Amino acid sequence: MSGNAIEIEGLRKTYAGQKGAGPKEALKGIDLAIPQGSVFGLLGPNGAGKSTLINILAGLVVKTAGTVRIWGFDQDVNPRQSRAAIGVMPQELNLDPFFTPRAALEVQAGLYGVPKSQRRSDEILELVGLLDKAESYARTLSGGMRRRLLLAKALVHNPHILVLDEPTAGVDIELRQMLWENVRKLNQQGMTIILTTHYLEEAEEMCDEIAIINNGEKVAQDSTANLLGRIDAKTMVIHPASEVTTLPEGPGMEVTRRADGAIAITYRTAEVSADAVLAAAHDAGISIRDVKTEEADLQDVFLALTRAD
Ligand code: ADP
Repeated sequence: MSGNAIEIEGLRKTYAGQKGAGPKEALKGIDLAIPQGSVFGLLGPNGAGKSTLINILAGLVVKTAGTVRIWGFDQDVNPRQSRAAIGVMPQELNLDPFFTPRAALEVQAGLYGVPKSQRRSDEILELVGLLDKAESYARTLSGGMRRRLLLAKALVHNPHILVLDEPTAGVDIELRQMLWENVRKLNQQGMTIILTTHYLEEAEEMCDEIAIINNGEKVAQDSTANLLGRIDAKTMVIHPASEVTTLPEGPGMEVTRRADGAIAITYRTAEVSADAVLAAAHDAGISIRDVKTEEADLQDVFLALTRAD
């Protein structure tokens, strides 16, 4: 194997038009390699094509063109092996209301052909914190518990790769923490994790590597650190000693007043020196009580890369 968990080349998807609308090109020829053992983030605004890509990986959407190799298995040549290598936690809560968590896992294991002797239902339920609900009907579970059950279902066949589609959209902090703890634990055990999100902070915190897709095309792929390093903007945050009447100004500086009264000056380090920023503040008559600088975050990178020009 190449060291990549997933290799995608020239992936295209065109959906047939619905209700008089023309065909929709959701993926326009994506190349993507996802390293084994990574926590990989797939980022992009709504409608970028993230779910389409993931659903193709999961075997739920049929691609229009391109090749997809999962754990070395070409999806078209070895569909069974490629499917066995990946587990997907879907976005929507599609659970049979009359199954208990334990039964749901047994059925899922059966679908994947996991022999009875190799099933680990209770171990997985324990991992996601549902062991005490093992015999409750799914319809009596809270939204958070249902999400945990979806994660558990994705794990029954012990896949090499776990895909999480917007796992924390609309979940509470406690569940989010539980999810991330599990993800870290599974990754430490060697599982490759792929997650889609439009929460940049989450990607920043969780992912080793990130691909950004926009409008069906990949616009960037790099390590999280490199992606952050790509933009050279910094923000100097000045806490004034007294009320500011005139905002500082200068070439290459973007100045905003924050709710707490601080003045934030964003500048490109290649073009503007910190000295020049401080001088602009002095020229505006501001006496500085405190000052700190902030690095750019992924939001800035994201905007810079996906801006329609
Ligand atoms: P994301 O997950 O990044 O929000 P999607 O993959 O869901 O993006 O959607 C990409 C584009 O394809 C969108 O314009 C969406 O409207 C369109 N699309 C998604 N699913 C279908 C479908 N079943 N039929 C037609 N168009 C679709």
